[in-house]
Amino acid sequence: MKAFSLLNPATAVFILAISSSTSVSFGHEDFSKPVITTETKKGDDGKDALYMYIDGVKVHELDTTKQTLPPVVTPGPVGVVGAAPSDAIVLFDGSEKALAENWTDTKGSPSQWKVVDGALESVKKAGYIQTKEKFGSCQLHIEWASPASVQGDGQGRGNSGVFLMGTYEVQVLDSYNNVTYADGQAGALYGRQKPLVNACRKPGEWQSYDIVFHRPIFDESGKVTRRATFTVLHNGVLVQDHTVLSGGTGWMGPNAASEYKAHPDKMPFSLQDHGNPVRYRNVWIRELKD
Ligand code: MG
Repeated sequence: MKAFSLLNPATAVFILAISSSTSVSFGHEDFSKPVITTETKKGDDGKDALYMYIDGVKVHELDTTKQTLPPVVTPGPVGVVGAAPSDAIVLFDGSEKALAENWTDTKGSPSQWKVVDGALESVKKAGYIQTKEKFGSCQLHIEWASPASVQGDGQGRGNSGVFLMGTYEVQVLDSYNNVTYADGQAGALYGRQKPLVNACRKPGEWQSYDIVFHRPIFDESGKVTRRATFTVLHNGVLVQDHTVLSGGTGWMGPNAASEYKAHPDKMPFSLQDHGNPVRYRNVWIRELKD
């Protein structure tokens, strides 16, 4: 109780109520993993030394059969921001070939989106475009530009979206001097979490999203047992900081969003046709462990 001595009694009771409740899970971390063990034994110099093991691997283990080295990845060229590293799957490199090889509409037919000046442009009524390949947890780099000629306002201005697993939307919107509801502006997890800041560039200028996404996990009954998480940088600025997605991002009317619904471990990644000619380029992905 000493820790609460600086608090007023009502606050202390409130904290106790939270900490003793099994229904409140936020702020609780599983400290049982990784498994850390120690032992004291003679070191090379004959003196007793402490040995610590993390999941059975000794700290500072040099034997690479026990502690494997990370694979070598060649980053993109110096000075070229956002260039794909050597182990990325490049989904769109500006070519018609990439469009034909990697993307379809949601029915699996060739997409009506078009390649314009090396960019993949959304075409009104063409529907979403999705990858042929399926992905789960991943690192995604994508660049986008809202139309240089401003038309419409609010949600009608440069609206598209980056849909992880074809389901969870990181909103794409021209949010440069364009006020709309915060959880629907660029960098928002649509309807669930507004971005930390508005880092939007001017209409027509190229912008980037770098997204680290961990997929949700469902049990056999379809109940979500681990929610999805998003870390998002917009033009290099952190806008989602390991955000736990509280549910789905689907439209459920003006003031509601969808809930989690069980789905496969891997699904196509898609981009939204919201009727505005938003362009994309330099799209690459690296698969991550769950
Ligand atoms: Mg959208």
